[in-house]
Amino acid sequence: MTPAAFITTSWDDGHPLDFRVAEMLARHDLPGTFYVPRSADRETMSPARLRDLSATFEIGAHTLTHVNLNRATDPEAQGEIAGSKAWVEDTTSRTCVMFCPPAGKYSRRHLQPIREAGFVGVRTVELVSLDAPRPEGDLLVMPTTVQAHPHGRLCFARNFARRAARRNLRLYLLHGRSSDWVDLARSILFDVLERGGVFHLWGHSWEIEEAGQWHRLEEVFRFLGRFAGEVNALTNGGICQAIRATGRAGNPPAMDDAGHPPARRPPGYRPSLGPTVMDESASFFRQS
Ligand SMILES: [Zn+2]
Repeated sequence: MTPAAFITTSWDDGHPLDFRVAEMLARHDLPGTFYVPRSADRETMSPARLRDLSATFEIGAHTLTHVNLNRATDPEAQGEIAGSKAWVEDTTSRTCVMFCPPAGKYSRRHLQPIREAGFVGVRTVELVSLDAPRPEGDLLVMPTTVQAHPHGRLCFARNFARRAARRNLRLYLLHGRSSDWVDLARSILFDVLERGGVFHLWGHSWEIEEAGQWHRLEEVFRFLGRFAGEVNALTNGGICQAIRATGRAGNPPAMDDAGHPPARRPPGYRPSLGPTVMDESASFFRQS
């Protein structure tokens, strides 16, 4: 039996262009987790718009002020971690189960406050991994597969070296050493469909804009969307909760809707963005 295959996506920083990503995800029937700080150096969406986004997608915490946790004092880090969960929950009226440290910067000492704040999972920036979230105590640490960004080869090499991630390097070499993220995504997705694993695409909407990658993102969403019905297409939190419930990345059990985010899309599910959201994303198309 082929091991279970999962597709998930995540989007960091809460930039207003996230609505363009959201509209595209919805069009291709794909799940998404948006990690949104209360404020950051770049523009962030208003609380009202965050609430709109949370009607269709999962919202994860990304600290309050988008700080590098490694540069914060321990009490500051703790305040940023716990405060961001409370802020997301107050704003969206939904439980927030996922945390993502800005720029992937965190240390082992931060896992304890993340756990104590009540998060289920932490999303990292480990690249070219197909692994299910790994347990660290009762917290799940979730790697990523491909970033929606045209990285040079050096960036991949640094990412693997930082984590001594030999398996990820092997996978990268196996998939043609491509510095083209779309080719890499396509090649790895077929591997996941065949052998199982978690395909996790992530990115920043502002970076997609700066690097002119919208048409390439559309291309990737189109082929992900084609296979989303054959695999478990879940939010980041949906995958972590499924793994927590089963103890492995097997087929997740049916979950009730009481705890947000919805872990699995019900049959016939079609994400719909409210009229406000659609109007706003449409205006982004006009701007570009
Ligand atoms: Zn960030």
